[in-house]
Amino acid sequence: MTNKLKYFIGNWKMFGDFGSFKIINKINQFSYKSKKQTIKRKIILCVPSTLIHFFNQKLKSKFISLGVQNCHYHQGYGPFTGSVSALMLKKAGADYIILGHSENRFEGETNSLIKKKIISALKQKLNIIFCIGETLKEKNKGKTFTILRSQIRSSLSKKFNMNKIILAYEPVWSIGTNKIPRIDELKKNIEFIKTNFKKIFKTTKTPKVLYGGSVNAKNIKLFSSVPQIDGFLIGGASQSSKKFIDIIINYYK
Ligand code: PEP
Repeated sequence: MTNKLKYFIGNWKMFGDFGSFKIINKINQFSYKSKKQTIKRKIILCVPSTLIHFFNQKLKSKFISLGVQNCHYHQGYGPFTGSVSALMLKKAGADYIILGHSENRFEGETNSLIKKKIISALKQKLNIIFCIGETLKEKNKGKTFTILRSQIRSSLSKKFNMNKIILAYEPVWSIGTNKIPRIDELKKNIEFIKTNFKKIFKTTKTPKVLYGGSVNAKNIKLFSSVPQIDGFLIGGASQSSKKFIDIIINYYK
């Protein structure tokens, strides 16, 4: 088993109320109990914007970081009814932000809009979990690499702080479907993302790349055979403390 840092990031999606703090509390207790282990891992929970301030006030923990799931592209305040900016989310207590999620791309978010959001979030020193991935149609047409390359190239500016960006490879067809990629395909795609990122941004530093899509306590063990994966973005299963904790336990079994 590798001792490289692994991320376990929850994406709560449109879920939760103030009472859901008990989920975070249980995950925190689990982390506290296992603090003596030498395993290097980072737990981040990305919750709805309505909960970030409350959770941030309540959670006094060095084991869990909190984030949100989207922001408006505009920096600061402005005439954008119903929206929240990166500045407002940062002030409310977010450290991380998911951007480019396929559920938002499906609602019309383009690469150029995502680029503006990334710029805005970086300005607030938020850590970004930047989601990329192909649809089933694109995969079947053999276009996975082309799509991944263009999502990376057109959503990131030439100069940015690489330490603030974690990529999440999430094949759209695997999100919430119980379908996961073949391990050999996943390996190839993660390697492609890392190599291409370095080529596009002319850097020798390898970016962190997570996998996301229908990860659960049963299939997590399969992924531990791919050392190139730096961690996981976990959707549905992160809405339950038991499911989320079991994923972590089983990964290291
Ligand atoms: C996600 O929404 O980022 C995700 C990976 O969802 P799920 O785990 O439910 O497939």
